Amino acid sequence: MANIIHYRNKCIGCGICYEMQPELWRMSKKDGKAVLLNAELKKTVHVLPVGQSIYFETAAVAEACPVNIIKLS
Ligand code: SF4
Repeated sequence: MANIIHYRNKCIGCGICYEMQPELWRMSKKDGKAVLLNAELKKTVHVLPVGQSIYFETAAVAEACPVNIIKLS
């Protein structure tokens, strides 16, 4: 089990994560930033535990994020 960590405060709303992985992300109509679905807010970051296949899929999404705010741990 691993975690996807989204530093949402720094999201610029480019939509790449949603385009690459629509099953995990939505774009908020309220503030235009990405939302990591079902993630838990821990202090200022959103955290979602995932299995191995999603973990590896998300590595490519994390690399594509232009402001580098999607992390895996
Ligand atoms: S790819 Fe990064 S900056 Fe773009 S919407 Fe997703 S989290 Fe935000």
